Amino acid sequence: MEQSEFIEQQKELNRLTSLISQGATIKDCSHPLKDECRLPIKSAHSLQRQGSLKLLEKTINGNSFIYCHTERQINKKYGFLDLKPIGRRDASTFYGFCDFHDTELFKEIENDPEATDINNNLHCFLHTYRSFSHSYHRKYEEYKLFTSSEPEVLKYLNKFYGGDLEKVTQGVKLALQDLEIPKKSLDEMLINKSYEELEYYCYEYPYRCPVSCAGVTTPGHFKNGDPFNLSEKADISYSDIFTTVLPFAERTVIILAAFPEDLLAIKYLDELDNISTELEFQKYLSFHIINNLENVYISPKFYDRKDYKWRQSYCQLINIISNKYTPYIRYNKGFPVNYFAYTEKIES
Ligand SMILES: [Zn+2]
Repeated sequence: MEQSEFIEQQKELNRLTSLISQGATIKDCSHPLKDECRLPIKSAHSLQRQGSLKLLEKTINGNSFIYCHTERQINKKYGFLDLKPIGRRDASTFYGFCDFHDTELFKEIENDPEATDINNNLHCFLHTYRSFSHSYHRKYEEYKLFTSSEPEVLKYLNKFYGGDLEKVTQGVKLALQDLEIPKKSLDEMLINKSYEELEYYCYEYPYRCPVSCAGVTTPGHFKNGDPFNLSEKADISYSDIFTTVLPFAERTVIILAAFPEDLLAIKYLDELDNISTELEFQKYLSFHIINNLENVYISPKFYDRKDYKWRQSYCQLINIISNKYTPYIRYNKGFPVNYFAYTEKIES
């Protein structure tokens, strides 16, 4: 497929998704205590409102921008599908919480944007809950799109997926079903205030790294290449690795979490935790983010200082990963991206 065609398809898909998500049903608060809800449903940030994304921005001629892996444009000079500068306001929002819950639920980590403490279970839980809610909401939107009866949507999906449409739709349905299980468990923890029930793997760097992300994922492989979960069969449930990376003014916090009974997820996180060298840990964590998460933001201060060949390879990597038809990629020691190196730190 030509790059320009790819961009047009993505634009069309985004347009149709937003068309569908404007329907009232999707603007549903994620909080389990619906009696408390106070409308309207807000356009909520999956990452911090004031903090993290602002800290990644670069400003040229008064315009501030960041990059997101899913927003792309053609680089005419070098002829590849590059990252596209976007404004922070457009980044990472979702209609996932009502006005009351968006404010009330996250006040411990939002009122003071620098407050997050990785030794505080409530803080770790809230970040994890929000990251999960974003992924859940996106999957729900996707499900709405694929099960829509709008003629315009149907026409497009048929054109885009052809004979694979049924299989792809089934995959989206199963993925949403799989997310209902962790959703129920996380909601129970939230109601019971049992924030310590998740197993957290937290890390902190004493400098600002150029990346931010939030979401839940089931990786394809373990670090050594063994398959983790490559199945699309209905009877195999997914494991869940909750991932949140947040840059602060002078530090970066990484919160990974899993259910203690989810043995595969715990094994994956143990493996990461037991990497013997700092360099490899940083690279593997970078790989985990690129390979498994969509809701990833990076700083232009990091990306723009790389040469075009590096940027081209970076973008090709994202293309391969985001394409449903290409196989999973595996980690190797030569992996060329390290968001967490001290030399990549960004400053105001
Ligand atoms: Zn609510």
